[in-house]
Amino acid sequence: MLGLMQDRPLALPHVFHRAEEYFGHKTIVTAGAADETSMTVSEWAQRVRRLATVFDTLDISADGRVGTFAWNTGRHLELYLAAPCTGRVLHTLNIRLFPEQLVYVANHAEDEVVFVDRSLLPLFWPLVDKLETVRHVVVLDDGADVEIPSDPRVHDYEELLAAATPFEGRFEIADENTAAAMCYTSGTTGNPKGVVYSHRSTLLHSLITLTADGAALSERDVLLPVVPMFHANAWGLPYGALLAGSSLVFPGPNMTPQAIAGLLERHRVTVTGGVPTIWMGMQPLLAQHDLSALRMILCGGSAVPKALSEAYREAIGVPMLHAWGMTETSPIATMSTARSRHATLSEDERADIRARQGQAVPLVEVRLADPATGEIQPWDDVSTGEIQAAGPWIAADYYRGEGGGAQFTEDGWLRTGDVATADRYGFLRLVDRTKDLIKSGGEWIGSVELENEIMAHPKVAEAAVIAVPHPKWVERPLACVVVKPGETLTAEEVIAHLEPRVAKWWLPDAVEFIDEVPKTSVGKFSKKTLREKFGGYQVATPTAASTTDDGRT
Ligand code: ADP
Repeated sequence: MLGLMQDRPLALPHVFHRAEEYFGHKTIVTAGAADETSMTVSEWAQRVRRLATVFDTLDISADGRVGTFAWNTGRHLELYLAAPCTGRVLHTLNIRLFPEQLVYVANHAEDEVVFVDRSLLPLFWPLVDKLETVRHVVVLDDGADVEIPSDPRVHDYEELLAAATPFEGRFEIADENTAAAMCYTSGTTGNPKGVVYSHRSTLLHSLITLTADGAALSERDVLLPVVPMFHANAWGLPYGALLAGSSLVFPGPNMTPQAIAGLLERHRVTVTGGVPTIWMGMQPLLAQHDLSALRMILCGGSAVPKALSEAYREAIGVPMLHAWGMTETSPIATMSTARSRHATLSEDERADIRARQGQAVPLVEVRLADPATGEIQPWDDVSTGEIQAAGPWIAADYYRGEGGGAQFTEDGWLRTGDVATADRYGFLRLVDRTKDLIKSGGEWIGSVELENEIMAHPKVAEAAVIAVPHPKWVERPLACVVVKPGETLTAEEVIAHLEPRVAKWWLPDAVEFIDEVPKTSVGKFSKKTLREKFGGYQVATPTAASTTDDGRT
């Protein structure tokens, strides 16, 4: 027997029309290179309607890929809706990719047009002749003092909008499984891989940002997404805000901590989100700003250090809300929102819970599997396993089937490459990525856990731990440490700091002091580079020589 309910597509036109009909009076502010602009959602919606017909004027195919190379702005939000609502596929190009990667992804996705912020033209324009399918470059003039190339492919966004006839009526997407947007993962090995979001996956994921144990976005909120709109749809926050009716503030090209703190204060922002690096940069400024309106700082992309979250809690009363996910998971998969059983814990214990990656959000399922055998691991907070994920906004494959293979299990779950433990409530604690684990004497050592402990040392700015070959234990940890400016630190001090914190056989065999941890194009630690540098490392005086034969103390 079938249900007798209406079969309406879960698609982005609903987000657009809901925002237009109910929240037209709300505002969208964008900080430009020179000034700040504000428009109402009604004005924004009219611009989306104009943009919808611009794609026809530019002769973009019915499902053509619409590239963007842009900061977080109101205009970018126009593209976020106009492209998918007309059946086109939004392709947010990551402005921080290396040039060869950018050329690869634009060609692989077959972008027909790219909308580029004027301030980003110096990065984009030198590549344009290598982009095989791009017929138009539309400049979003953010007031930057940058020359606009005189070329028949180049158009001015505002001129196109002004000349366009607004689309009338309601946007419709008949099949909710139609592609809405795509985003390439940066990939530390091989070519970037294309993740293709559908209307259905995007809409369902947006709803998660409205749930009480999610970001709880509501009409009363003012949202400032610091996380880039070219990074997994800014964690779905802009779509969530439109659906909920929150006002929006976009930081534009000026991503300095001073600028972000100023916007948070001036616009009485209630919810913001970004990677830990952003909040580390802003921490010294907290005392100078009135951030009393802020109720939530969503943080993820890499582990949120407990010390950072605690520094915010102490300064402004708002710790970080830790979330975990990846491009392939749209990206929100787990969140570390406090549960009723945490209410009686001490502040320090609660801080430990906040440092965990948290519990799977509704509709997402996770399990832990042994990386080698695939055997499912218990949620006993001791056993570790690779996180596998399933759900309606988790990737089933990559664009053109390229790069997947081993990344999906036989029963269709995504292998995330992250290794974690889970307590009996399924609260995850990430210990490593599969490829970064250190296998010493047959036992795993979590490099991320070691790094977190080393970075808790007051004189350490950054630390990365990698595996180096060892004649007896096969692999042993090497710590690469960056000391804070003006401080001095010895290897012995690092080891002494770790001794009470980790098992003895986890202690790094050596500590190397480096100037900076090399980063990938998206700012994550590039352990590959470190491994290349220290691959032939010979451990001279193993401090862990006292481990027993099975590698344990
Ligand atoms: P890429 O997969 O190209 O590195 P993503 O932005 O998709 O780029 O990054 C996803 C990865 O980032 C995850 O697999 C995980 O290793 C890391 N990550 C994301 N969120 C967290 C978090 N809250 N804590 C620790 N690591 C995280």
